[in-house]
Amino acid sequence: MFDVQKVRAQFPILSQTVNGKPLVYFDNGATAQKPQVVIDAISQYYSEINANIHRGVHTLSQLATDAYEVSRNTIQKHLNAKHNHEIIFTSGTTQGINLVANGFASIVKAGDEVMVSALEHHSNIVPWQFMCERTGAKLVVIPMNDKGELILSEFDRLLSEKTKIVAVNHISNALGTVNPIKYIIDKAHSVGAAVLIDGAQATPHLRPDVQELDCDFYVFSGHKVCGPTGVGILYGKESWLNQLPPYQGGGEMIKEVTFEKTTYAELPHKFEAGTPNIEAGIVLGTAIDYLNSVGFDNIAKYEKELLEYGTKRLQEIEGLKIYGTGENKASVISFNIEGIHPYDIGTIIDKLGIAVRTGHHCTQPIMNYFNIPGTIRASFAFYNTKEEIDIFVEAVKKAQRMLS
Ligand code: PMP
Repeated sequence: MFDVQKVRAQFPILSQTVNGKPLVYFDNGATAQKPQVVIDAISQYYSEINANIHRGVHTLSQLATDAYEVSRNTIQKHLNAKHNHEIIFTSGTTQGINLVANGFASIVKAGDEVMVSALEHHSNIVPWQFMCERTGAKLVVIPMNDKGELILSEFDRLLSEKTKIVAVNHISNALGTVNPIKYIIDKAHSVGAAVLIDGAQATPHLRPDVQELDCDFYVFSGHKVCGPTGVGILYGKESWLNQLPPYQGGGEMIKEVTFEKTTYAELPHKFEAGTPNIEAGIVLGTAIDYLNSVGFDNIAKYEKELLEYGTKRLQEIEGLKIYGTGENKASVISFNIEGIHPYDIGTIIDKLGIAVRTGHHCTQPIMNYFNIPGTIRASFAFYNTKEEIDIFVEAVKKAQRMLS
């Protein structure tokens, strides 16, 4: 049985007051809170085994290296990747996408196409624009409809032999739309295009199976899955990772260096130049173990309840419009209230202890589509409650009264 109070007791920050009120944390799309096991694991790393990895023969270095590689194996198992060297530690989703886009700059040619979607975070747009500027490739965009869903007939129409890579998110951070990525992956493969999935918003809610999906790359961030900041994962199929050039040069990623020529290390080290964020890499494994102990089936079922309840309650508010109204949605509600700027609502409810995101959510093209400056985004995690939703809805009503 899923017991939310038992879960909440594992997150010390949730029992805090903010501005004199009990914290209601609905900004999980930006970053997730950390359970005590994760906080303890960080402290334990620095108290007991801090040393540089893959270098020293001394005991602490061995212990740190072993813990780092155990974490890699945990993540391999979690994603069901075929090999552990297909798991590359990065600093986050953003770096994972930049690494792949940079690599593809040596593969694509002028006239080739790279496809993204209308629902992308800026971090899955800008690196591809860099790549297009360097190569002369063209950026093609899969459009969306008024519900915030991708128009698949347009995707089919735009896809061609010129398409070399399709980069889309699994779940939209701004609207919560769950994209039909299996369809996109299979279709893209039928024309020989590779597929990168931005899993930043999906990994907190579900467990992706990269072999079943058959995606070529899958990226996510540690801080959104109850882990530390400054670490993320790039999963890549072995064949692609072997084909792409290294992203950064430095220690760790080499086989042999001379002034005439340098050869590169085998996977995964080829893509892991320099001293990584060792503690965060190790503790990301702890966070993934923690989420699996809560259980992704429990998480999905409970968050669906929160989404339905939150949607129903918010719809009581006159003049409130929700953006992202498709069938398949994660626990994210993006909305505006007629005649009121989203920042004003956000500022007032912050005084009442409620944390939500206001603004464009790093998705300006989505805001342009709806012709709005931004939205108020409440994003729920499995440790949130219906009582918190009630507090939030009353606070939004109060803000509306104050601002009208
Ligand atoms: N993609 C999506 C869909 C996101 O929600 C985010 C974070 N808001 C990112 C990419 C970027 O993640 P990070 O800042 O952790 O690199």
